[in-house]
Amino acid sequence: MPITAYSNTYKRELDVTQLESLFNESPHSLDVSFQNFVKNDVECPACNVTGGYIVSEGICAKTGRTVSQAHFAFRNSQGVDAHLPFCEFYNGEDKQKLVANEGTVDFRNSKSSITRQIGVIVSIGIENNIFSQGDMRDMRQWFLDLRKSGQELFDISPHIVNLARSSYVKSKRNSEKFVLDVTEASKEGFDIDKEVYESLSHQYPHYKLIEYYKENPFYLEISQKAVVKKAISIIINDSSTLNFDRSVILDKYQLTRKLAFKMVKNDGFLSQKLSPSALFKSNPLMALSSLLLFVSNWDIEEAWKKVEIIYKIQSVKDGNAGNFIGLNPFVNYSAWVIIKKLMFIKDTLEDTLDYDYIFNEEKSRLMKLYDLKG
Ligand SMILES: [Zn+2]
Repeated sequence: MPITAYSNTYKRELDVTQLESLFNESPHSLDVSFQNFVKNDVECPACNVTGGYIVSEGICAKTGRTVSQAHFAFRNSQGVDAHLPFCEFYNGEDKQKLVANEGTVDFRNSKSSITRQIGVIVSIGIENNIFSQGDMRDMRQWFLDLRKSGQELFDISPHIVNLARSSYVKSKRNSEKFVLDVTEASKEGFDIDKEVYESLSHQYPHYKLIEYYKENPFYLEISQKAVVKKAISIIINDSSTLNFDRSVILDKYQLTRKLAFKMVKNDGFLSQKLSPSALFKSNPLMALSSLLLFVSNWDIEEAWKKVEIIYKIQSVKDGNAGNFIGLNPFVNYSAWVIIKKLMFIKDTLEDTLDYDYIFNEEKSRLMKLYDLKG
């Protein structure tokens, strides 16, 4: 249940007490009840739905102690939970736990020193009218609209992702063709599954992403184990929901990376904390960088001017000004585009092979040859 909600009237996130006192001071209070005002005014801080109402704080009858904080709840006109099924505050049985939700950044109560530092930069930006919580809300809506426009269902075997990795990176011994070497099996770090994929990548050589890297350079991140792992968890968790084609935000992703890199280079604290490879994976940093570009019409020069102003100011009066749920729209970008491309290759080839069967057969063949027990 959200403790704060975004107010369309006051253009920021507020808790129940803050919203009520602003309401009571305003002329609205003469025409409408607070509950009715809330219903039309507030939006969920994660999925932007309306239809909110107040749930008062819970007080224990025996002790008189507060047991639950006043919060917002969201229901539609039929009284049903109104949050989008992937919203973190949704409680329906069909709640979706999706990898697509991973870009959320909670600037409100983070324990991470990086998130707190970026939270300070966000607060400076808001305090000095460089951007507002309204802009943060609008960026969330932009991304929600992209998600809602999704037309794609993934129907692909996770084995194809592993196969694609082995088509790009494999051990030297197997690079030209698969070479059985029984002495390998006794060596530390020998991985029979890796061996199976390296063998299969010669038998099924169609999933070579390197041939398409000019179309999208992030296909080459198939070489990274973490990207392969993430792509597989997307296939497992998000296959039954419609997804949008992330290749449409490639230019924006590249601009966001460029700006994030420049920001870290010019920030003593962040450059110590974030290595060049870690900075592109930092959700709070990418959330801030994309927000700066979003409010600058994706013009990087204009966005950089805003960063320079913020870096000159350095300090903030109200450290809570940026208390908001932010968003990195580009989280797991390469994993998404890799799946999409592999799906495209599979469909073009009309590949309907049973890769579970193929993998298991090859694995038992190699296990016998390597004298390994199953
Ligand atoms: Zn919601």
